[in-house]
Amino acid sequence: MDPAATVEPSRLARFANSLRASLRLGLDVALPPLCPGCRDLVTDNGLCPACWSKLAFIAPPYCPRLGIPFAYDPGPGIVSMQAIADPPAYQRARAAVRYDDVARKLVQAFKYGDRLDLGPLLGRWMTRAGHELLDGADALVPVPLHWRRLWARRFNQSAALAEVISAASGVAVAHAPLRRVKATAQQVGLSRAERATNVQGAFRVDAAAKAEVTGRRLILIDDVLTSGATSDACARALLRAGAAQVDVLVFARVVDAARTPI
Ligand SMILES: [Zn+2]
Repeated sequence: MDPAATVEPSRLARFANSLRASLRLGLDVALPPLCPGCRDLVTDNGLCPACWSKLAFIAPPYCPRLGIPFAYDPGPGIVSMQAIADPPAYQRARAAVRYDDVARKLVQAFKYGDRLDLGPLLGRWMTRAGHELLDGADALVPVPLHWRRLWARRFNQSAALAEVISAASGVAVAHAPLRRVKATAQQVGLSRAERATNVQGAFRVDAAAKAEVTGRRLILIDDVLTSGATSDACARALLRAGAAQVDVLVFARVVDAARTPI
């Protein structure tokens, strides 16, 4: 039997959230705020002006499917070559910022550096970037961690972001439907093809959770979209279980600077 099946995901999420809240409370009292980009002292829990100016927010025009920015506006409904050549299983993806140096530091501080207080900031930016997707969506589905990684890291960053987006948008979080049944190797350093193989069969919708999925419009929530392999594997699992549509909302996505955008 898969050990993950013995732990109910929503209970884990609640535990992670309460842990998160108590940690954040402790940090606010104990430490002066540091900029997560450069570790300079700042007056609030955000970025310093220098790092803020380097953060690359994604704004229109962008590919309506992949959300990657266009160099110029090709007109309504025109999708990128990438979306035509290699269409993802999900319908639309949106990201708040490009995954560059500052964005990476923000994500790492949030995920590994005890900067859990960054969640509300990142989540609000995601809510703004995903307004088209959130309009009419039935539920947010955080990309799950394998239980072993959740244990090691103490909280699921995607679930934490989903809670912020839910509070800001009114779209509920569905914690139960998606389960990571394979402890995949880290995607870092793998090629695009290796990433796709790595996450193959890694996600599953339990029969008991199908009611949360069937016929519903879902938005997958994750911190970073790199090759899109993880989002694609999650979307496939949800669509196989009968989801009407799956969109993807992330904080940061890799934008290939060398690629001709249209
Ligand atoms: Zn800074």
